[in-house]
Amino acid sequence: MQVAVVGTGYVGLVTGTCLADSGNTVICLDIDAKKVSALNQSEIPIYEPGLEEMVQRNTAAGRLRFTTNATEAIQQAEIIFIAVGTPASNDGSADLSALWKVVDSIAACLPEHAIVVTKSTVPVGTCAGIERRLKERTGRDCRVASNPEFLKEGAAIDDFQKPDRVVVGVRTEADGEVLRSLYRPFLRTENPFLVMSPESSEMTKYVANAMLSTKISFINEVANLCERIEADVDDVRRGIGHDSRIGFAFLFPGAGYGGSCFPKDVQALASLAKENQSSSLILSAVHETNQKQKAILGMKVEKHFAGDIKGRRVAIWGLAFKPRTDDIRDAPAIELIDFLLSKGAHVAVFDPEAMENVRSKYGDRLSYASSGMDALKDADCLVVVTEWGDFRRPDFDAMAQHMKARVIIDGRNLYEPKELKRRGFTYHCIGKQPVFGASEDGRCTKTGM
Ligand code: NAD
Repeated sequence: MQVAVVGTGYVGLVTGTCLADSGNTVICLDIDAKKVSALNQSEIPIYEPGLEEMVQRNTAAGRLRFTTNATEAIQQAEIIFIAVGTPASNDGSADLSALWKVVDSIAACLPEHAIVVTKSTVPVGTCAGIERRLKERTGRDCRVASNPEFLKEGAAIDDFQKPDRVVVGVRTEADGEVLRSLYRPFLRTENPFLVMSPESSEMTKYVANAMLSTKISFINEVANLCERIEADVDDVRRGIGHDSRIGFAFLFPGAGYGGSCFPKDVQALASLAKENQSSSLILSAVHETNQKQKAILGMKVEKHFAGDIKGRRVAIWGLAFKPRTDDIRDAPAIELIDFLLSKGAHVAVFDPEAMENVRSKYGDRLSYASSGMDALKDADCLVVVTEWGDFRRPDFDAMAQHMKARVIIDGRNLYEPKELKRRGFTYHCIGKQPVFGASEDGRCTKTGM
């Protein structure tokens, strides 16, 4: 099939590349000329495992190309995916300005039988709005469908190629059949292809993200209570997770959820509820709990140093909002960095993939380390924010040699408190009692180790 993908970011690039890899001819359209030019030379603007090789292979095979020219991308297309960003507006509702620009730009060259498919996460009613707008612009009824994307950054190719389910929202059986045929190569293990109305499909995406965010905020709230009553959240988590009605997924306490989806989608769903005079008590609580949780690492640093942060050297491991991506949008690490800088701390950071994105945001206000160990040089404490594999089994003896004080504040509960205490570290994590190492406040001298 001839496919156009409009918006070549985390979702559009993966979608276009995976569809090219299954034999379609794909043109990706973006307004960012620098990005398009880099992609045409097989330079990938984002970090996503396995993507670079796949882009190169499909570009070389002539099945995948990139352009800034709407007519070139659209005029031959049978299916046009819209995958532009839909960030939060100031009032929490989804900002659809990029999407409407796309609709206007494709209307001029839209082939008569093409199906326009929203892959961007959009509020209920957007497909209907696109149908109306295209009719105004083209003077005819156009085919519009919804096909929300459920991929996870860091595992995006696998998720796209082996989806748990594909959801499509269509007006006619014929449109459903076209999309089923496009997805057939990815559904060979009989995972479901779910056909519904565009409204239900649009709602499904928001509800999925809101449910996952709810689980995270719930366990974070439980973790904070555990700390106060001397219970251990990991024991509690194990105690509930074996109940098959509850399970373990997304019940890991941490520094709050971030990224380009959960924060904005929870707010957009709450905003949709409000617009429709429906209650959004749970969604508001989920969002508020998360806002508080994102401040928790800064509060732990402040508490450990009894408010005396100015001039302290704080190392941060992990900047991306989760491992295996370079995406720092709404990442808890950003909130922590802003807090530490506002208090006058020296901040040294390390992340395996997100350094450039952080550098372009903070410039020379941070120290950029070449490795996790390098970030620890003379540090008064380490804060672990993202659970990259590299940080899970570090060399604690070498860490102690590099740090000025053996203090770890762990936002992901990666380490065993007893082991750290034995090694002389002071260790604060989420939902458990801290342990104190070398001396009451965790300070030590290199000669004393
Ligand atoms: P992104 O910001 O990475 O990419 C958006 C791209 O659209 C950019 O390259 C931008 O230059 C381009 N663009 C903007 N306006 C354009 C226009 N008028 N014409 C052509 N291109 C234009 O966004 P993303 O993370 O890929 O997210 C896209 C959508 O998918 C959002 O609605 C998001 O909620 C949803 N989504 C994202 C994820 C994820 O993990 N990132 C997962 C599922 C769904």
